[in-house]
Amino acid sequence: MIKVIQEKCIGCSKCIPVCPYQAITLVEKKAVIDLNACTLCGACVPECPVDAILIEKSQERAANFADYSGVMVFAEQKYGTIMPISFEILSKARELADVLGKEVTAALLGHGFHDQAEELIHYGADKVIVIDDAFLENFLDEPYTQALAHIVNKYKPEILLSGATAIGRSFVPRLAVELQTGLTADCTDLDIDPDNKELIQTRPAFGGNIMAKIRTTNHRPQMATVRHKVFDPLPKDETRKGQVIQEKVTFDATKFLSKFLEYINDETQSVKITDADIIVTGGRGVKCAENFSLIKELASALGAAVGASRAAVDAGWVEYSHQVGQTGKTVKPKIYIACGVSGAIQHLVGMQSSDIIIAINKDKDAPIFKVADVGIVGDLFEVIPQLVKKLSR
Ligand code: FAD
Ligand code: SF4
Ligand code: SF4
Repeated sequence: MIKVIQEKCIGCSKCIPVCPYQAITLVEKKAVIDLNACTLCGACVPECPVDAILIEKSQERAANFADYSGVMVFAEQKYGTIMPISFEILSKARELADVLGKEVTAALLGHGFHDQAEELIHYGADKVIVIDDAFLENFLDEPYTQALAHIVNKYKPEILLSGATAIGRSFVPRLAVELQTGLTADCTDLDIDPDNKELIQTRPAFGGNIMAKIRTTNHRPQMATVRHKVFDPLPKDETRKGQVIQEKVTFDATKFLSKFLEYINDETQSVKITDADIIVTGGRGVKCAENFSLIKELASALGAAVGASRAAVDAGWVEYSHQVGQTGKTVKPKIYIACGVSGAIQHLVGMQSSDIIIAINKDKDAPIFKVADVGIVGDLFEVIPQLVKKLSR
């Protein structure tokens, strides 16, 4: 809750320019805050010389914290295959749980499992809770929300992690509302505060210009989603032992709002950028859709996937599924070749942990060269054909 104490406000306007959301106006010499625009960021409060702006945060702790313990991972699977993101998150969950001295539990939802639960144990889980039900055969928001809410309410983890995948992004916010707790989406790092054992959730904010550290102080579980390739999985250890628990849930099918019709594969990428060892990315420097064939030629000569900057996607030269960056995919190939990409921070957050970065740009001062291992200052329309020629030999 935010309010301006009208009797104190002297109409000095100092709070107006500091509001990043233009939520404050002056009406009859008194500050008025548009509650629909205000995000409670707090920037205006210290600016007021007469302490007229008040933010009241609920001090009420909705959950009994002592009841919550350990780290839970939503283990995503597709047609019975555990998705790599689940192993990546398990590795971080293991690290966090070891700091807390607690267990890692994986929640596995679906239908017709065989030995997938054991696999999760081999990658770091102590316990796997499985709900095997025909309602969970194909992903749909409502049954997945009901099933995971059932597990969380019963097993009460203090931390719940999921992949920021199409599935995670779709139902995990819904789950957070159901559980009446907070959710930090697209985290790039997770840590435990050594003083109070809270989860510190780091993610880019304000267009990637700052890294925000977010805490869930009043509610449990502390929920976060993490993108692909942010963490490395632990090596598989087939000697690890753990417990597999079969759970049952009674679904309320009256709350199901959608139904599964068919699965259509994304045919726009022959090699997926999230799985590729080599990615050749084109940016605005490619100039038009037709020129993207040059990027595709280099990619095909290398057996690589085709990536794109947002500028190239927004221009309609290539589909969104190719976009690398903050609002696209996070990638970590062995080799990343950026052609005509300037290296804006929102692009860098999606690719800077690639093993080797090669940049081709005609501007020697382009920021991409700051992260590049190999920089080619030159015209991509001259450099790429030469590379393709050499590679085809
Ligand atoms: P530009 O910045 O225009 O760079 C083009 C480069 O091509 C220049 O460096 C130029 O020197 C070079 N060039 C031109 N001609 C040639 C040539 N003939 N040969 C060689 N080099 C040449 N961007 C992303 O990429 N991914 C994201 O997910 C993303 N998310 C965003 C989220 C938010 C909230 C915001 C605000 C922005 C986001 N952006 C994202 C956009 C980002 O800020 C940049 O605008 C974008 O990355 C620029 O794309 P670019 O490098 O292709 O284009
Ligand atoms: Fe603006 Fe932040 Fe103040 Fe709200 S709290 S009025 S968003 S500065
Ligand atoms: Fe009123 Fe304080 Fe804003 Fe000045 S800074 S207009 S006194 S609320």
